[in-house]
Amino acid sequence: MDLSYPPEAEAFRTEVRGWLEEHLPSEWGTPGFSMTADEWASFSTEWTKKLSEGRWICASWPQEYGGRGLSVMEGVVLNEEFARLNAPMRADFFGDTLVGPTILKWGTEEQKQHFLPKILSGAITWCQGFSEPDSGSDLASVSTRAELDGDEWVINGQKVWTTQAQYADYIFLLARSDPDAPKHKGISYLLVPMRQEGIEVRPIAQIDGSAEFNEVFFTNARCPKENVVGGVNNGWAVAMDTLGFERGTSATTGHRRFQKELESIIEAARRNGKAQDPLVRQGLARAWSKVKIMQINGFRTLTSTLNNDHSTIALGATNKMYWSEYHRDTMELALDILGMEGQILTAARAEGDGGSREVTEFVPGIGNRRQRPGYPVSPMQASFFFSRSETIWGGTAQIQRNIVGERVLGLPKEPKVAG
Ligand SMILES: Cc1cc2nc3c(=O)[nH]c(=O)nc-3n(C[C@H](O)[C@H](O)[C@H](O)COP(=O)(O)OP(=O)(O)OC[C@H]3O[C@@H](n4cnc5c(N)ncnc54)[C@H](O)[C@@H]3O)c2cc1C
Repeated sequence: MDLSYPPEAEAFRTEVRGWLEEHLPSEWGTPGFSMTADEWASFSTEWTKKLSEGRWICASWPQEYGGRGLSVMEGVVLNEEFARLNAPMRADFFGDTLVGPTILKWGTEEQKQHFLPKILSGAITWCQGFSEPDSGSDLASVSTRAELDGDEWVINGQKVWTTQAQYADYIFLLARSDPDAPKHKGISYLLVPMRQEGIEVRPIAQIDGSAEFNEVFFTNARCPKENVVGGVNNGWAVAMDTLGFERGTSATTGHRRFQKELESIIEAARRNGKAQDPLVRQGLARAWSKVKIMQINGFRTLTSTLNNDHSTIALGATNKMYWSEYHRDTMELALDILGMEGQILTAARAEGDGGSREVTEFVPGIGNRRQRPGYPVSPMQASFFFSRSETIWGGTAQIQRNIVGERVLGLPKEPKVAG
């Protein structure tokens, strides 16, 4: 297998590298470098502006919509260079990774002109309104209603687990627009402004007291008639693409954050002597092998993408299942290695208002570490908590297995319970 990249890709690498060196703070990546919540907030705003001016966010989008029209190979190189320096490369995950590509694929020209520039500049932030109290894995059973009233949709119902809803300007939501149609055929995908009277957001307290996701209640909430994406009653097909973007991963860089984290777990095991324990050694070797498999699989994905013989469904489902289960198991191992140290809150206490305010610290290589002043988790503890959710959000690991079984391997469909 030849793993070298063509000369044009290497020339582009030099361009990206030069830009990053010029624009990142000079101390970035030096040992011990981190930012407090306030420093992170102001860096983030400035950085998004620079990324947007440099047209690095969603750079594979066509130029007329603010991208650079990058080739697959250039897109890979761009990801690799940003990942190498742990430089953030997005404005808002829900905007530029989920709804942006969805609008690009399914939106009308007016929707593209109106929303895409605001997504790229970070001017509007988004949340995802798919799950409901009785519709998670069985997403097609959503019961939130959307009815046309003149030039507007009127929305009634409830969403749940809506991450970042308390900060979002817009929600992209699935609502039932034809209650008489078969369940997959009567759903519309709507773009609804969040800041209006008919929408109430109630935060859900998590185990550490923070509230990252919410319940969202719609009582005669409204959005313009034109804000339906992909056509009335065609929301299921549109939503499947959004979920594909959510499950997708950056082929050759996806393993990097796990590799960095595993290095710090191995370091902890060496420090406290657990590295001598044969079971711990086996666990670490297993984790190391899985990270290598992710890396090699990344090259395989890239090769089949370049050869145009890849299956997006197969890759999305198998990758999501593999990395999320790897991470859950490895963070359990990490907590075992830490032993009693893992049970106590050892991180420096963040300054704040005594417990209610959520703060974020940024550690390059590890990412954002969310903590509350009253619950100062270490990066490893934070990662352990979050890893519990990774086999659930974006479609559970069991649902990914069903997709692989039915749609990739062609096994018989799972039996459905009537009703
Ligand atoms: C951190 C986090 C953030 C989230 N953010 C959002 C968000 O922003 N917006 C949003 O819309 N949703 C969000 N979700 C919700 C997420 O999409 C759902 O939790 C997920 O789809 C599972 O649905 P459920 O919780 O209703 O579980 P259920 O569907 O009730 O599943 C319960 C269990 O049964 C299993 N199961 C269900 N059906 C089958 C089947 N057919 N075959 C085999 N096993 C099955 C599941 O795998 C699971 O183990 C978030 C979830 C988490 C954890």
